[in-house]
Amino acid sequence: MAHAGWRGTARGMAAATVEAMREQFGSRPGDMRAGIGPSIGPCCYEVSPEVQQLFQGKAQFAEMPTAEQYRNLVRESAVFSIQQQPDGGPSLRLDLWQTNRNQLLMAGLLPEHVELPEVCTSCNLDRFFSYRGERGITGRFPALLALREK
Ligand SMILES: [Zn+2]
Repeated sequence: MAHAGWRGTARGMAAATVEAMREQFGSRPGDMRAGIGPSIGPCCYEVSPEVQQLFQGKAQFAEMPTAEQYRNLVRESAVFSIQQQPDGGPSLRLDLWQTNRNQLLMAGLLPEHVELPEVCTSCNLDRFFSYRGERGITGRFPALLALREK
């Protein structure tokens, strides 16, 4: 199980996880299954131009810069869009779902092996907590993962 917000995604977390599983367990990307859990969607995830510059490689983190081997992957996987706000102004959005899905595919997972329910936590505050959606005053929810013997 791996977790990433925009900072981890901008460092190639999904691909780094695939690589770690290859090294630690001998896993083959073509055999791997991935699920991207509920999280904030592009409908609600406004980001600053500085965030986009980090993904594009036009800027770099002051600490823990994106590893050289993931810089192209991060740039090519990133999905940004501009949405018009009700007041008419443009709003830069980051699609963490598709960006992380792209990273998994670029790392060798098969499209049919990546589950993406597209459930936005910020749009569903009756079911989930959302740091962004609740402006930082919110709860936390756990995620569990287990292996079962066949
Ligand atoms: Zn939303």
